Amino acid sequence: MNHDVTHSSDPEAPEAAAPAAASAGDDAERADRKERVLHTRVPAVLEAELKAVARALRVPVSNLVRTILEDAVAIADRASSEVGERLEAAARSVEQERARLRARVERADPLGDVLAYQPVTVAAPNRCARCEAPLEPGDSASLAIRQKPGPAAFVCAACLPKPSGKGRGSAP
Ligand SMILES: [Zn+2]
Repeated sequence: MNHDVTHSSDPEAPEAAAPAAASAGDDAERADRKERVLHTRVPAVLEAELKAVARALRVPVSNLVRTILEDAVAIADRASSEVGERLEAAARSVEQERARLRARVERADPLGDVLAYQPVTVAAPNRCARCEAPLEPGDSASLAIRQKPGPAAFVCAACLPKPSGKGRGSAP
């Protein structure tokens, strides 16, 4: 079933054998010393396919195999670096998202200890502490009364807590 790809039993294959096959000592001498011969077993169908392609391209089968291997390694290198970059980007965005959420939570916190809201008429330009809508002099707004002393905070009418209307105050 399997055939050694560097061993050519096909007399028609043009110099299909690897340059460093057992009988090609001279070729091996000339070959770059850094190169190594890898013997591998491939299915007969694949061998026929490789030989057909090599014949069409007029290159030795061994050259074709080496080119395919080099391409595969290059693609694998590229793919793995892309995967690494993608993972890094994902980790970065998770970190940024977490920081952003924390900042948003901390920014919303100033109204966390509010006990009540008192209707007021705005005298100096301000902003709603929750939605940051501008509050101009003369506008109706609500002053946040906190448990602990702190800077005055106002909320606009839209951000004022609404009666829940359900489950509370209305006995059946
Ligand atoms: Zn508001």
